[in-house]
Amino acid sequence: MLGVLNIARRANRRPGVSESPARIEIVDVRRRFDGPDVLNDVTLTVASGESMVLLGPSGCGKTTLLRSIAGLERIDSGSIAIDDEIVSGPGRHVRPEHRHIGMVFQDWALFPHLTVADNVAFGLNKAERDTARVAETLELVGLAGLGDRRPATLSGGQQQRVALARALAPQPRALLLDEPFSNLDTGLRVRVRNEVNALLRSLGITAVYVTHDQEEAFALGDRIAVMMAGSVVQVGTPFEIYERPVAAAISDFVGETNHITGVMVDGGADTCLGKVAVSASDRIGQRVQVLIRPEHLAVTADPEGAASIESIEYYGHDHVLRVRLADGSLVAVRGAMAPSVTPGDRVVVRHTGPRSVAFDVDD
Ligand code: ATP
Repeated sequence: MLGVLNIARRANRRPGVSESPARIEIVDVRRRFDGPDVLNDVTLTVASGESMVLLGPSGCGKTTLLRSIAGLERIDSGSIAIDDEIVSGPGRHVRPEHRHIGMVFQDWALFPHLTVADNVAFGLNKAERDTARVAETLELVGLAGLGDRRPATLSGGQQQRVALARALAPQPRALLLDEPFSNLDTGLRVRVRNEVNALLRSLGITAVYVTHDQEEAFALGDRIAVMMAGSVVQVGTPFEIYERPVAAAISDFVGETNHITGVMVDGGADTCLGKVAVSASDRIGQRVQVLIRPEHLAVTADPEGAASIESIEYYGHDHVLRVRLADGSLVAVRGAMAPSVTPGDRVVVRHTGPRSVAFDVDD
């Protein structure tokens, strides 16, 4: 791991890096197979050198969008531009090999009969293969000296790096990574993810990742594009997506959310937890659904309390209490380390967090 990071720190001085990371502009892209639109008017801009994550539930169109950027998929309408060149658009489809974009597939797609070095050389033209490019790229990803091995003799993490090296060797202007860590088991996944993230950031390359894992998206993305049913429903920093979701479904998808009903009053929403400050409070009298994160609630033991502890999930670094409120609804309350209450205890629940978001009940 250290090898990778040390090399990554030196990477800006190395020749294996594109000097002009691409800007990718996707405008009103539609794609349909047999049924409804799989991509439905998708518009998204990835800035030069940015790390963008496409996050969304299975089947929402993430891979189709990534493959469309790569040129592996044709779009039905709209356009995709890389820098100032339209690569997909009306009457135009630049072939994948002419887009100068690298792709790391979910299954890594390594050729088992080729050596590691030959796998990495695969995307290079003859002249490039004769240079030190392969060895340099293997060094860049921390696999120096393993070029003669077959992929099957490497660990999962090492195979992942071969796939990364193969995508980086042609010095792409952008790298597209489709669930690149999902083949790794949990402990290794986090380590390899951190290494790849550090490497790509040090290279300054434009990167677009696909994942359905919120934690992974937050760890990797400068910004996240949340996709649902073929549409990009919100684009923002991890903080914006988590704290300022534009729809309840987004909040539910990125972590746990309590939905508390209330009525808008001056300065917030009147709920069974008392008045909760909300970000847009100009709808006085309107019934709303207030979205409150479990860590933004706290309980205090009180024999007269209207709520009671239903169950406790202890995770070591924190815990989650399931608390039955007076109106019969159940809320989650996240606290630090060991809980000070036990199931059956009467409690008072308070909102302790920043302003919440509230949506009209009809939304
Ligand atoms: P996952 O996270 O499960 O990979 P995804 O968000 O990446 O899902 P896509 O793989 O883009 O979703 O698929 C979106 C929809 O398009 C799915 O319903 C899928 O079945 C359909 N689809 C994708 N490729 C094709 C194809 N070549 N032919 C027909 N339908 C397709």
